[in-house]
Amino acid sequence: MKYLFGPVLSRRLGLSLGVDLLPPQKVCSMDCLYCECGKTPRRLLTLERREWVPTDEVKRELEYLLSDPSFEVDFVTFSGNGEPTLHSRFGEVARFVKELRPDLRLALLTNASTLDEPEVLKELEVFDLISPSLDAGSEEVFKKINRPAEGLTLEKVLRGLRKLRENFQGEVWLETLFVRGINDHPAEVERIGELVHELEPDRWQINTVVRPPAYRVRGLTEEELLKIAELVAYPKTDVVGIGMIPVKSVGVKRGSDAERRLLELVRRRPSPPEELKPALRLGDEEFERLVQKLQREGKVKLVSHGGRRFVAPAGEDRN
Ligand code: SF4
Repeated sequence: MKYLFGPVLSRRLGLSLGVDLLPPQKVCSMDCLYCECGKTPRRLLTLERREWVPTDEVKRELEYLLSDPSFEVDFVTFSGNGEPTLHSRFGEVARFVKELRPDLRLALLTNASTLDEPEVLKELEVFDLISPSLDAGSEEVFKKINRPAEGLTLEKVLRGLRKLRENFQGEVWLETLFVRGINDHPAEVERIGELVHELEPDRWQINTVVRPPAYRVRGLTEEELLKIAELVAYPKTDVVGIGMIPVKSVGVKRGSDAERRLLELVRRRPSPPEELKPALRLGDEEFERLVQKLQREGKVKLVSHGGRRFVAPAGEDRN
């Protein structure tokens, strides 16, 4: 599978099948300090919406997987190597999933950079859940943390978020990721808090840097996140960051195609062995053997972050 990944057990969404509508080099309207997909290449830092990968191929993969009625997940989630709404036909793909499997819920993870555009807004109604990001309360911090494409401002993001709240009937889970020394100072937290209260998301999920980031930045402790939650005092707040969850495996035969699946998973986000082993249904020894083989072949590398070990794609320039 080139465009589908997982299913993985995500802390926020439960068991989730990922749909990635961007090419492996990553295409995004932002180049966030904390991004777990690595840096956004300069020429692919853009607000341009186009058919970045062939829609028909994505549909073929979806049809193959979802036509098995025993295939079940909590969500089919549009996310991956960049901003999904930059794919000009993301709405068509989402509707295709709903037609194939009306029983499955659809989620969209977005950086909210295009939500003020009418042609994007009208495609959103097919989703059950939208989780947009908001990491700053001022233009200055927005530029620092999200490193946007030319022409993208916090004002545009907020315009999109307000339109989303006015027009979208499904659930909205707003996510804020806190980075030490960047958006965690009291004045910025206060501004972000004011926006959260104004936007009234169904959940406000606060998170921090838990996987190896694109740039050399550090996350907050659980106590610090809890303090922010207390200060902002938004009644529907979840502190998501810090702990990792165990991943279970679904619909995967023991060890089947483990190499390909491992590469697919870590390409989208570096993952610790304790997540990968159960997802691939591999024992300790088999897993270590596989990782060593892929290291020898120059396909993956081991990196440390926050005292944990992660398997990441080799050759990727982080920090
Ligand atoms: S975190 Fe999301 S919005 Fe930020 S650079 Fe990565 S993919 Fe783009």
